[in-house]
Amino acid sequence: MWRLRYNGRLRQLTHDGESLAGRPETLIAVYPGSFDPFTNGHLDLIERSRRLFDKLIVAVVRDGPKQPLFSVAERLEMLREVLRDYPNIEIEAFEGLLVEYAARRGARVILRGIRAVSDYEYELQMALMNRRLRPEIETVFLLASESYSFISSRLVKEVASLGGDVSQLVPPVVERYLRQKFASVWTTKGG
Ligand code: ADP
Repeated sequence: MWRLRYNGRLRQLTHDGESLAGRPETLIAVYPGSFDPFTNGHLDLIERSRRLFDKLIVAVVRDGPKQPLFSVAERLEMLREVLRDYPNIEIEAFEGLLVEYAARRGARVILRGIRAVSDYEYELQMALMNRRLRPEIETVFLLASESYSFISSRLVKEVASLGGDVSQLVPPVVERYLRQKFASVWTTKGG
């Protein structure tokens, strides 16, 4: 499982996040995910959380779904377009163990979203395992906004693959990519 695997170089955090003068360091959070594709639910989470952290790193997992709809490069392109006007957001791909990646980037927080009870059990297991691996890194959960809690990448793909309207579910950039991907369906629907 990608959140637990790591093939790269290990690096230790040098201290507990407080500078020697006692002032808190820049608070960096990593928001990891497959983002296949990025949805308005993800965007809402980012909008709300970027006010909580000095820097938010949106991290696309390289060893995620076996058969993604979009390549990692395509997903990075979409994210960069959607988030280009946000000054405190970085976008990159990572592989291996999430907590080690977070530590390498100097992040003290892993950000995840919870939509429904169905997300909770899995997220809890991952958060506890990640805590065991790196206790100094906290997982922070934000509840999905009511109006976005029904949106998932999986459903977006399903609707788009059948020619349905996804304009309320994803940013316009992502809708354009989806239209290209499912061009034949959209052409026959005249969409
Ligand atoms: P995964 O990381 O499991 O592949 P995703 O890439 O779809 O999942 O999502 C990344 C993170 O964003 C997860 O924490 C997920 O719960 C959260 N998320 C997904 N969709 C929404 C939404 N509609 N509202 C809030 N959070 C969401």
